[in-house]
Amino acid sequence: METVQDVKMNVYKFGNKTADGNSKLKNLLGGKGANLAEMSWLGIPVPAGFTITTEICTKYNEVGREETIAMIRPDVEEAIVNIENIMGSTFGDKENPLLISVRSGARVSMPGMMDTVLNLGLNDEVVEGLAKKTNNERFAWDSYRRFIQMYGGVVLGMKPESKDDIDPFEEIMEHLKDKRHIELDTEFTVQDLQDLVYDFKDAVKKRTGHDFPTDPWDQLWGAVMAVFNSWNGDRAIYYRKMHNYPSEWGTAVNVQAMVYGNMGENSGTGVCFTRDAGTGEDVFNGEYLIDAQGEDVVAGVRTPLQITKLGSERWADLAKIEEDDRRENYPSLEEKMPEIFKELDEYQTKLEDHYRDMQDMEFTIQEGKLWILQTRNGKRTGAAMVKIAIDLLKSGMINEKEALLLLEPNKLDELLHPIFDPKALKRANIIAQGLPASPGAATGQLVFFADEADKYKNTILCRIETSPEDLEGMNIAKGILTARGGMTSHAAVVARGMGKCCISGAGALKINYKGRSLRVGDKIYHEGDWISLNGSTGNIIEGKVATVQPELSGEFAEIMELSNKYSKMKVRTNADTPKDAKVARNFGAEGIGLTRTEHMFFEVDRIRAMREMILAETVKGRKHALEELLPMQRKDFEGIFEAMEGLPVTIRLLDPPLHEFVPHQLATQKELAEDMHISLQAVKNKVAELEEFNPMLGHRGCRLGNTYPEITEMQTRAIIEAALNLKERGIEAKPEIMIPLIGTYNEYLEQEKIIRNTVNEVFEEREDSIEYLVGTMMEIPRATLIADKIAERADFFSFGTNDLTQMAFGYSRDDAGKFLPVYLEKGILTADPFETLDQEGVGQLVEIGTERGRKTKPNLKIGICGEHGGEPKSVEFCYNTNLNYVSCSPFRVPIARLSAAQAQIKAS
Ligand code: ADP
Ligand code: MG
Ligand code: MG
Repeated sequence: METVQDVKMNVYKFGNKTADGNSKLKNLLGGKGANLAEMSWLGIPVPAGFTITTEICTKYNEVGREETIAMIRPDVEEAIVNIENIMGSTFGDKENPLLISVRSGARVSMPGMMDTVLNLGLNDEVVEGLAKKTNNERFAWDSYRRFIQMYGGVVLGMKPESKDDIDPFEEIMEHLKDKRHIELDTEFTVQDLQDLVYDFKDAVKKRTGHDFPTDPWDQLWGAVMAVFNSWNGDRAIYYRKMHNYPSEWGTAVNVQAMVYGNMGENSGTGVCFTRDAGTGEDVFNGEYLIDAQGEDVVAGVRTPLQITKLGSERWADLAKIEEDDRRENYPSLEEKMPEIFKELDEYQTKLEDHYRDMQDMEFTIQEGKLWILQTRNGKRTGAAMVKIAIDLLKSGMINEKEALLLLEPNKLDELLHPIFDPKALKRANIIAQGLPASPGAATGQLVFFADEADKYKNTILCRIETSPEDLEGMNIAKGILTARGGMTSHAAVVARGMGKCCISGAGALKINYKGRSLRVGDKIYHEGDWISLNGSTGNIIEGKVATVQPELSGEFAEIMELSNKYSKMKVRTNADTPKDAKVARNFGAEGIGLTRTEHMFFEVDRIRAMREMILAETVKGRKHALEELLPMQRKDFEGIFEAMEGLPVTIRLLDPPLHEFVPHQLATQKELAEDMHISLQAVKNKVAELEEFNPMLGHRGCRLGNTYPEITEMQTRAIIEAALNLKERGIEAKPEIMIPLIGTYNEYLEQEKIIRNTVNEVFEEREDSIEYLVGTMMEIPRATLIADKIAERADFFSFGTNDLTQMAFGYSRDDAGKFLPVYLEKGILTADPFETLDQEGVGQLVEIGTERGRKTKPNLKIGICGEHGGEPKSVEFCYNTNLNYVSCSPFRVPIARLSAAQAQIKAS
């Protein structure tokens, strides 16, 4: 074996059981290129080719076409010669031509988001040579017309002009089919195909003003640049945004000898998975088509057949096809080409063992010879992700840490969402059956165009088939339904990647785009009608179906247990109600990191007392109103303590500016005046008085408690009395009282004094006591700088990274909508700092606060309770900063638990 080159090259060759690169070079060669090289080393038959690196793509974006070509031409010419030698044919040769494909491939797989050109190297003369060489005129001309069609679309911009238009080449083909009274592409005669080629070239000339390029080298450079350009196409950009991939990565270009699945009955093409990408079940599965090229399977134009006999039987069962009919007309590859199947089965096992993860492979059979065109770690649903990790762990292929690292924390979210209520399903009116392409439960109103997926709050996007242009709409819709295409169609693959419920290939649906309607038998459904999809069974159901919370047992529970085993950092939740607290506890929250008390004041019966308190002119008046609030607040806390029995609960004292609680409309102001027996003018005056120029930096947080100490007193009393009440009932409560918005030491001191005095008062009254903590939110930059001082008194810190971000950046979160999107668009900011913690700046404040706090009190308990607490990258940062816990919203608790474990594993 040759050793891999250490020096970076522009072009990396592969083929004939050797390669310049390998799978470790994903960043440079892209995933596809790196794996083609690796497969070549493994002795798996891949057509010979080469990869132009992602760095050349980046270079191209700087210097443009001519300079890029000048730079890589010698390498590309040499690499083409290498393919010619291996394949025994010559690029552009009229007697014995080599044809190639030009394929995109970024470091992460972005299925269908970028462009590919097949059959490159054909022109009017070469096509004759190809016909002679293969002794198959029909095949040669079919390849030629496909080439013009693809090259026209990808390189020359021959795309439909509006969404109602069809592809200009498809239009020409449809026209000819009508004229010839035929239905299928396979029914075209050689003469038809020759006519198509002529008409296609004519259409290109008319639309672009240029002749279709005849020189194979011109064709090659055109295609390479088009692939580079597709990195900055709308689809690719949207996909990158969705996944937070930076634009600097660029795409590699893979140039590869063509192999043909469309050379007749002993040829074919397909896609397969080493495990079920929807459920995770350990069964080899996939789809194939006889006499077809790769694109045909994914595009969903012809409904493909199953690879394994088992898959075929399951498919027939869903499609209600009798066994005889199945064997005769829809045979599996296993039955139709047993030898090929055996070989494919061997490779799939070998590849999964080698990569130690589920593989998604593309293959082509040319006249009885099998070629593998691609392998990658397959996209999968959240449920499949969890099952596969646990199965691989149990089989001994990977260890516990590897199993945890195989998981994408954010995808756990899919498992937490409601499923259809089994009782409701029994009554459901099933209108049609499709393939269970991506599991889940979706209910929504019908739409027929991807760009209208936001027309209603919940939509089901219904298409004959989807294409990469539909990506954004697919992401918005609650579910996806297609009439054509199999389990490996674009819709199915993309939906599984998004974890979105999808049913594909529901042949009974007759979709009418113009009429925006859907016919099944004699029933018609219109845009806006409600339907439900059961992505786990393929059932399409009329109307809405009730849902229930899923049970989180089995593999999910095992993952969570493993997460705890490998994570010393705890995960708490932000919860303001007993209900949220319970949900979070079920998800494994180990305490509450933030209870916001103000939400409790907005309920109808309370807001009145709250307003009375605010409007009171005297301390006495305020105290009177607070006395009314006390029992309600105490009850709230009892509920929360009970839900979190035995676990710590951090309660933040009143934080928002008071004007948020007073009425701003005349009618409600009048009501309040009457209620309180004061004049309307007095109410108006008070509201005006509370008006602030910049409430975010105004009279809020501990500034409230320090100007109106009776508020702090009441809240402290409610907390401690609630805890003591529970103690009487034998339930342990662990309150942690948190003072918001501290900026100076004295602010803290003043509040702490009020709190401790009140607590002692209650203890004396009740002749009992409990353990409690007093600490502070760290959310004003100044506080983080004097953290050593504050730690002299505080029992704990909790970083409020929302406010900390606001104040560190000087961005008001409520006003950032005006400029943040532009900043992200222009790359002034790479991420929204309110979503992902800004480690470079705000992160330093967290580090400083932690370091200085612990200098005074080495065991100071420190957590984070901002929105960032549930975001995997921020969780990793918190782990590396040695925080004791992160706190996040209930539904993000499992995500944070897994992220915390991953952070610890990565760090060790
Ligand atoms: P994507 O990244 O969108 O999947 P690919 O580069 O894999 O695009 O190409 C799309 C299809 O073209 C593949 O499914 C494959 O079957 C077919 N294809 C690509 N290169 C070749 C080749 N050299 N010979 C035959 N078919 C090819
Ligand atoms: Mg592919
Ligand atoms: Mg705050």
